[in-house]
Amino acid sequence: MTGADDIIDLTFRRYEQYVNPGIATLVKFMGFDTVEVASEGCYIYDADGNKYLDCWGGPGVFNMGHRPERIIRRVAQQLEKMPLSSHILANPLTAELAERLAEVTPGSLQFSFFCNSGAEAVEGALKAARAHTGRPEFVSTQGGFHGKTFGALSASGRDVYRDPFQPLMAGFTHVPFGDAQALAEAVTDKTAAVIFEPIQGEGGIVVPPDDYLPRAREICDEAGALLILDEVQTGFGRTGKWWACDWAGVVPDIMTMGKALGGGVMPMGAFIARPEIWDIFAENPYVHTSTFGGNPLACSAGLGAIESIEEDGLCERAAERGDQFMEGLSAIAAEFQDKIVEVRGRGLLIGVQFDDSDVAGLVISALAGEHIVAGYTLNNPKVIRFEPPLIISAEQVEEALAAFSQALDNTAALLQ
Ligand code: PLP
Repeated sequence: MTGADDIIDLTFRRYEQYVNPGIATLVKFMGFDTVEVASEGCYIYDADGNKYLDCWGGPGVFNMGHRPERIIRRVAQQLEKMPLSSHILANPLTAELAERLAEVTPGSLQFSFFCNSGAEAVEGALKAARAHTGRPEFVSTQGGFHGKTFGALSASGRDVYRDPFQPLMAGFTHVPFGDAQALAEAVTDKTAAVIFEPIQGEGGIVVPPDDYLPRAREICDEAGALLILDEVQTGFGRTGKWWACDWAGVVPDIMTMGKALGGGVMPMGAFIARPEIWDIFAENPYVHTSTFGGNPLACSAGLGAIESIEEDGLCERAAERGDQFMEGLSAIAAEFQDKIVEVRGRGLLIGVQFDDSDVAGLVISALAGEHIVAGYTLNNPKVIRFEPPLIISAEQVEEALAAFSQALDNTAALLQ
């Protein structure tokens, strides 16, 4: 037994006894009979020193890569000065990040609330919509994913995650994603807000028709309801623009974000809204709070994340590498038409839909054998996602494509 074997064995035993035996079984089934111990750029390293190209990317967390130098540097410097805030005195980093977010988000989005995760951002957005409109109901989408706390789960659209916890929050209606007519019929004068992702991530990387966001904006405006766009996964350059809603030129009333906001270094979430919506929070700043939200360490990472997107040209890189990846995947899909139904996405948010979730599972495991980290989308296990860091090089995209092709050959041989 090597030292690496010891740590692998011990980690799985601890998962089985103290974390969750189901997770131990699942990761082994996915082909990862090992443990991760380090990461750098686009690669994750296991205990034996093997490296894996990360095509999963968090998902949506590692837009700037693993351990991005400029963000690590900012966070390390802040760690030496003041990691957490008193919450009594005002903190310069919270203020600076809020200003920067107002600059990089569209339209008149201006005031930010900082929290620690995407789900928490969604909770805050739902509360803000209720308080601002005085209305009780929400419309969200089937297959949508907004997190797993009660409010966020109530907005999400996959029964397998909802059923064990019923009753969820009352007042949610789920309509088919991308269907503006269904949305128009569901929104009433009781609707506080419509919430959906501009491109569904966990729903299977689903891009709506071009007129969907503009129509949703009109429907909300006509009904006096707010439009909340959840950019937790699609934001921070992932689709080739700063925000996925920028493709449609639509500005929401509230936008939620998380994942890459922390630069792949710190956990962080936020929601940002138009000034009028902030009245309730300005009148009573303690009506919605978070002990760790907006802490200086996370804010220093957030500032680094914004700087990376701007200075490293990450939106442009996502668009270019996304085209290359999508073209390559489409060519491979044409050779495996018996298994692959569709390749779709935008920028480096790409999904490959299989006709069978078991086959998708076998391909993920075969990809692990090719030293590629990939996974399926939570609300649609027929879809394997490709969401690598936005810093991925053209050569690394070719490496991933060759591995995908090999994984499909290996899976086909297994199924014969
Ligand atoms: N919203 C979207 C669109 C997401 O994709 C996710 C997570 O995948 C969430 C919200 C929840 O984020 P978190 O897991 O940080 O709570």
